[in-house]
Amino acid sequence: MKSLYELPAFVVSRKIKEQEITAEEYISIIIERIKKVDDKINSFISHNFESALIRSRAIDKKIKEGINTGLLAGIPVGIKDNISVKGLKNTCASRMLAEYVSPYNATVVSKIEEQGGIIIGKLNMDEFGMGTTSEYSSHGPVRNPWNLDYVAGGSSGGSAAAVASSQIPLSLGSDTGGSIRCPSSFCSVIGIKPTYGSVSRNGLISYSNSLEQIGPIARTIYDLVPLLNTISGDDPKDNTTVHKKYEYQTNNVDNILKKKYRIGVLNELIDDSETEVGKNTRKKVKQLENYGCEVEDTRIPLSNYALASYYVIATAEASSNLSRYDNLRYGYEGSPEGYEWNSYFSESRSKFGDEVKLRILLGSYVLSAGYYGKYYAKAQKIRSMIKREFDILFNKYDILLLPTMPVLPFKLGEKTLQPIEHYNLDVYTILANLAGIPAISIPGGLSEKGFPIGVQLIANAFNEQKLIDAGVLLENVDGFETWIPKI
Ligand code: GLN
Repeated sequence: MKSLYELPAFVVSRKIKEQEITAEEYISIIIERIKKVDDKINSFISHNFESALIRSRAIDKKIKEGINTGLLAGIPVGIKDNISVKGLKNTCASRMLAEYVSPYNATVVSKIEEQGGIIIGKLNMDEFGMGTTSEYSSHGPVRNPWNLDYVAGGSSGGSAAAVASSQIPLSLGSDTGGSIRCPSSFCSVIGIKPTYGSVSRNGLISYSNSLEQIGPIARTIYDLVPLLNTISGDDPKDNTTVHKKYEYQTNNVDNILKKKYRIGVLNELIDDSETEVGKNTRKKVKQLENYGCEVEDTRIPLSNYALASYYVIATAEASSNLSRYDNLRYGYEGSPEGYEWNSYFSESRSKFGDEVKLRILLGSYVLSAGYYGKYYAKAQKIRSMIKREFDILFNKYDILLLPTMPVLPFKLGEKTLQPIEHYNLDVYTILANLAGIPAISIPGGLSEKGFPIGVQLIANAFNEQKLIDAGVLLENVDGFETWIPKI
């Protein structure tokens, strides 16, 4: 018989509501599992076990009294360490914020708690979300549950690896240029970056605020949707959020097939990826075709310029967002002798890791007088042009399909010294961030050596439902358990 930690959250939640098991029993099993497995993976930065147990008892009590406990009753959720949880450290995997305890909850965290979800701990990541492997962390690298010598992807590597290794059923990540989808692909879980403006960023520590969104990660689409429904919605504390009804469904296959989805396949990008990635992606195209979806080859001509545009905009915004950590207003508090401003400032700024420093320098450069027009303004023009290309494509197609990552997971340390090669890994994920549209990574299969390959689907703004429908179709081919590592 399966242990509770292996079951999907929606199944366990039902058992808790029907009083077949208690939330407390379930949370205790999850805590045991984390203690047993996470030494190998390093997906958590901090735990919240005691409060989680207290909350689980409160939920059991409510259930006994017949009070409605919400969509996530008794379900543990891990939170990326750049999303604020009141009373817990919020380090962003940085020495700069090593001692920072958040005085408030991010809106998404309050919403999870309102729906009966239980915050179980904070998850490892690249420092301030800057990276694609979760190696740039003051807490040490996250390891891939499929092979502990390999990277888990990033920057939400802890969020994906903890779910893939069946420590927790659900987590939140943030995605500025692929940080939810990349580790989801490398660890074989499902992760979605929602439409910009559909999920509040209040309480998310900014890296590049015009690009990023918080989103859920899960092992099955049937768990992903309740968490996405929980966190979506407008928020008076984030004036970029859009007022709309967000009620995503996991429709059944027959109803989805009636919608006759038209799928545009980004063939050139598939061809440009590693052979096994390409082969698997085409397998997914075939599966959707077998379901009766209309499939056609297409292209985004400007995708060649996307990477340059992304790295100019992201670093420019990062240099501005991270200027607040100055030893006076925010961040590390030191007290160098003499209280002279320069040493005060540089003492705290030296706490940033090398990759963060590199990006602050690059961002300050592209924003500086004389270069602003040459780099930053141009990058914004390309961004608008890419958005227009997507608009044209979505007149013709419901969904675009491409690989999530151009390569398979690689060994720890293999790309840390090669910034450009590292940045190039984001080539397929940044497109959706530049355009502000939703994109999902779905497990697509395993390579010959047993490494996960994710397939990416992109839809027009506020069309998450189409991505979820495609997720249901693909998950129904093999079942989600095919893609869970044994650990
Ligand atoms: N890898 C990309 C970067 O380093 C994306 C990171 C993210 O989405 N947070 O900027």
